[in-house]
Amino acid sequence: MSFDVLAVRKEFPILTRTVNGKPLVYLDNAATTHKPQCVIDALVDYYSTCNSNVHRGAHKLADEATRRFEGARDIIAQFINAPSRNSVIWTSGTTESINIVANGLSQLLQTGDEVVVTSMEHHANLVTWQQACAKNGAKLKIVPVNDLGELDVVEYTKLVSPKTKLVAFPHVSNALGTVNPIVELTQIAKEVDALVLIDGAQGIAHGDVDVQEIGCDFYVFSGHKVYAPMGVGILWGKEPVLAEWPVWQTGGEMISTVSFTDATWNTLPFRLEAGTPNVGDAIAFGEAIRWFSSFDLASLQKHEKALIDYATKRAKEFEGLTIIGDASNKVGVLSFVLDAGHPADVGFLLDKQGIAIRTGDHCAQPLMNRFSVPGTARASFAIYNTLDEIDVFFDALCKVKAMLA
Ligand code: PMP
Repeated sequence: MSFDVLAVRKEFPILTRTVNGKPLVYLDNAATTHKPQCVIDALVDYYSTCNSNVHRGAHKLADEATRRFEGARDIIAQFINAPSRNSVIWTSGTTESINIVANGLSQLLQTGDEVVVTSMEHHANLVTWQQACAKNGAKLKIVPVNDLGELDVVEYTKLVSPKTKLVAFPHVSNALGTVNPIVELTQIAKEVDALVLIDGAQGIAHGDVDVQEIGCDFYVFSGHKVYAPMGVGILWGKEPVLAEWPVWQTGGEMISTVSFTDATWNTLPFRLEAGTPNVGDAIAFGEAIRWFSSFDLASLQKHEKALIDYATKRAKEFEGLTIIGDASNKVGVLSFVLDAGHPADVGFLLDKQGIAIRTGDHCAQPLMNRFSVPGTARASFAIYNTLDEIDVFFDALCKVKAMLA
């Protein structure tokens, strides 16, 4: 089945707008993706027809809101093949999901324990573990990357030991686009019974994520990177761990019984969902996943591979451009520097031509230091991008180079 990218583009109203008098070429999808009309409609429809607080209302609107909200959880559970809907926890995004896990672990970590992360972490999956380790006298170990931006699996295997309580790594690097061998990394960690957290912020929109097949303990992601609204995300975790770990926030919904002196906790998923959830965005997230799942995955992945392969080919032909991160298995991200000028100037001058990219350290400062660059210019692709847009991008980049010379 072929992937009809022009039909897909028609579903995204924002893609018809112009920027600085030019048609928008949006290549900042690793930062956030745009939303198809059906997702926008789901949000509007929720607020227009059944806005209510969930679970506790004794009226029709509350019932409808609860049904849609819990239905969205079912869609997401199915999408990642979670063994139970109860282990799918609504959060505000990847960052909060990681913090919930770190909160649980930091109450169990002891002096001498170790946590292993990689050199290619987003700050959300690095600083959080630095803090958790610092509180407990635990050590943070960092897996190096090679010059291509691939994890050094041999070094990883050496760093993982019986002292390792948890390993955390990204499914896909937001700064380089490297796709990590997540099943292999998980298996190595499991040999020493370490917990495994996968930061799926960049992985979720590009692949088939089957948490049971991967074998990890936690897989976390944000809605806004997979065509859903901002402000909503998922923590998936193995049920026994989530059920037994210390609770995160306390308040309404997460309790079972309360007296003036004590409280007992609700069952999953509610024990980790204190307070009124982000109902409308969660419903729209469910709609985004329903929409995304309707594509033939093999055709979609073929399209995405064509985008990154073509962009990489053009980048390699471009004189004065250095790709940062040229791993053999990449998706969605072309990070680069130009001899002609600073990434910030490159981004500014591309924007003048209607092209949106991201420049800077991509919340991965240690990784930028590893590659001895202050930051990069990053073009990142989603399913609605076309090969023509990549041509427009490189034509514009030629002009940028000339302007900076
Ligand atoms: N991890 C990775 C790999 C990311 O790309 C991002 C977002 N840039 C995050 C974590 C944090 O996601 P959020 O800001 O949605 O919580």
